[in-house]
Order: sequence, then C-alpha cells, then structure tokens
Amino acid sequence: MKKSGVTLSLTFALLSLAIASRAQESQALPTADARYKTDILLVVAHPDDEGAATPYLARALDEHKRVTVVFGTRGSSGANEAGAEQAAALGAVREIEARNALTTLGITNVWFLGGKDTASQNVLLSLANWDHGESLEQLVRLVRLTRPEVILTFLPGTFIGEDHGDHQTSGVLATEAFDLAGDPAAFPEQVAGPTKRLEPYLENLRPWQAKKIYYFPDADREDIFREKGPDYSVTEISKSSKLPYWRMALDSFRAHQTQAKSFLDKVAQMDEAQIEKMATSDSFWTESLHFVLGKSLVGGSVTGDIFEGITAGAIPFARPEISPEPGRPELSVELSGPYSFYAEFRRAHGLTHLPHPEPPEIALQGHTTMVIPLWVRNQTAKLQEISLAASLPAGWTLQSGAGKFTVAAKQVAAAQVEILLPAVPESETKKPEPQNVTVRANSNGQSIGEIKLRVELRKRALPQ
Ligand SMILES: [Zn+2]
Repeated sequence: MKKSGVTLSLTFALLSLAIASRAQESQALPTADARYKTDILLVVAHPDDEGAATPYLARALDEHKRVTVVFGTRGSSGANEAGAEQAAALGAVREIEARNALTTLGITNVWFLGGKDTASQNVLLSLANWDHGESLEQLVRLVRLTRPEVILTFLPGTFIGEDHGDHQTSGVLATEAFDLAGDPAAFPEQVAGPTKRLEPYLENLRPWQAKKIYYFPDADREDIFREKGPDYSVTEISKSSKLPYWRMALDSFRAHQTQAKSFLDKVAQMDEAQIEKMATSDSFWTESLHFVLGKSLVGGSVTGDIFEGITAGAIPFARPEISPEPGRPELSVELSGPYSFYAEFRRAHGLTHLPHPEPPEIALQGHTTMVIPLWVRNQTAKLQEISLAASLPAGWTLQSGAGKFTVAAKQVAAAQVEILLPAVPESETKKPEPQNVTVRANSNGQSIGEIKLRVELRKRALPQ
C-alpha cells in the first residue's frame, strides 16, 4: 500500500507538470522590427546629396537590397527656385522633396538628423553646428534600428572640389557610428530595456556592427581614388524598369524643384540623346560611379562588389585598430584645424590607408583671406623662440602671422598665418593651376618644420 502510494503521487506530480507546461507554451520574446532591417544605409548631408549614389541604389534595389537613407540637415539655407519659402520653411519643403525623390526609387525609410546647413569647407565648423554629440547619438540609434550590412557615405577629407564641410561631416559621423553602434558601452541607454511600463527612457535596441563602409569623394581629382574600390556603370539597363540607371537617378532628382527648377525645365526641352550625353558627362555621374573602400570586417577584395563577402546574420563587434601617434621632435610646427583633425581621425578609425592629398590642398575664392592654422609644439623644458616665414606665389600678400614668437616650456600653442589672395577676374576662362604656399618655421637658426599647401584660386568657392 505504502509503496504504491509513492508511485501514485510521483505519477500525479509528473502529470501535473505536463499539464502545467502545456498550459504555459513558450512565448516568443519580442525582437527587432523586421520592417526597418536594411542592407544599405546611405548617410549624406543635404536633401539632393542622395543623387551622388542614386544610380547605384537603383541597381541595388534591382537586386532586392533594402535601402535606408539618413540626411544630416534639411537644407534650410539652400536656394529656392520653386517658390518664396526660405530658411526653416524651405527646410520643411526640402524634406518632402527628398522623401519624394527616394519614393520614386522605392525607398521609404528616410530619417533626418538635426544638423544645420553650414556654408564652409571646414568640417569642424559643421560638426559644431550640427551638435556633433547629439547627431552622432541619433545616427548610432538609427544604425542599431536599421542594422545595415553596408554603410555608404561621403569621403571624410579636405580636397580641391566642392568640398562642402557638411558633406565631410556626414562621412565623419557615419564612420564614428560604424565604429560605435556595435559597442554595448557606447550610448548604453539605447541598449538597455525598460523593466517597468511608464519608464520611457531606455530603448531596448541591440548593438549592431555593420560589415563594410564605403565612401564617395567630393573631390575634383580622381587619380588618388583609382583602384581603391568598385565601379558601377550608370549606363547599364535596369532589369526592373528597362531604363538606364542614370535615367532612373535623373527621374528621382526631378523632385528637387527648389534646387534645380531651371535646370530641370531645360532638361524637359532636350531629346533623350542630349540628356544621356549630359547625364554621363564629367559634371554629372560620368560613365560610372566610383566608391572607395573604407573598411571591411568580412574580407573581400578592394575593387570587388560592395556585397562581396557579406552573408546574413550579425558579426561580433570589432573595436577599430588605433595606429600609434607619430613621433615628433621636441620642437615642431604642424598644420592644425581640419588637417590635423583628419590625420587623428584616420589613426583613430583604422583608416590610415584612406586616400588624402599630399601636400594638403584646398580651392579658395579670390580676393579673400586664406588662413593657415598651425600648432607649435615645445616639449623642451625651456621657453623657445621660433620664427615663421611664408613663400607665396606672385600677387599673393602676407597679411599677418610671420615673424618671431615665443612658446613656453612643455606647451602646444596655436598660431596662424594669414594671406590675402588676389582677385580672379570674371573674364577668366582658363581652369586655374593650383599654386604652392610654403610656411617655414625656424628656431636658433635651424628648421623645425616646413608646411606646404596646394591652393586653387576660383571665382567662387565656399568659405575656407
Ligand atoms: Zn550637399
């Protein structure tokens, strides 16, 4: 009796366990929203900048890639050819133009950071005006939300070209987000989840490491970017639309009436052959779109397809490899401002291979003042006297910054040389040759540094 009683109660216990587990079938825990998963995240500065990549995006969409676009600003200080609206009202109009342009291609996941347009070639001014920290936080959030395989963006660097500081800034932020979004210690409040209702501060995102980042340069020169990444024909015919990719890109661009109404009206009067000739010319998309490989965490060749080496699923977070700081003599002079920033940026993000001009270059408007920002490093234990002198092309005038200076012991001091540039006559039609400017620094009769810059004078250019 006793024995069978034990058996009975054990059976009862197992039976009730089975009933209980059947009553509580396992419940799926919530995971990331699949509607926002993307293959390509394009990060650019202004509404209409997406045009730098649309012939490639049209091709990627043919291959069923999911595309997301992030704009840094709403373009509120651009021109308006379509109406009277200006400033923030123009920004509201341009947001819709950008959304319409992308909808034409089938792209609907589009976000805007809170950046403000900054008319300058100086990336540091744009970073400040975009609230660098806030914009980066939002971009990291969007990377974690959209989980891109690949990020495409402007190449961060200073070049003779349009060289817009905002374009450079989109490339800087995209690179920083590439390196931070996978790091659970970066913006951890985005990664943590709320434990109670009505605790709307923690976001329950997961870290995400994108696999590759590619850049497109905003530079006139092409030589230093050749063979640094893949090329995509813009004249090839799309499988889905049966139109060449340049045509799909141009049809998308039609939405940007505020920026290009007069141009688009002119295009409407042209025949197809004339339009193709224009769209595939140097001032447009040329024959092909060229990308520069920034980083791949999944192998693949430099000039191979953007998706080469990419397979589905997450990869582990990869902290960027930081290159050591270069050795410097105890007393030295170097270019500062955006130039030293980019040298540090390339070292900090494992991008020392990224093409950049040597000597550094910039295009400036005639009859403006050029500023050469310098850092003078004195790591000796004594106050040091240094002298700065500049060699300039004929007609260029040194305004200030040359002469003798002292730098206290163990200090890094800022100095700057200012040069008045000659005017470029409106009648000038020749493409200008870049000129060389050299700043020499001496101390105790010995050279402590020589800084060279290549400068192209233009009738019009963004402020330095
Ligand atoms: Zn732009």
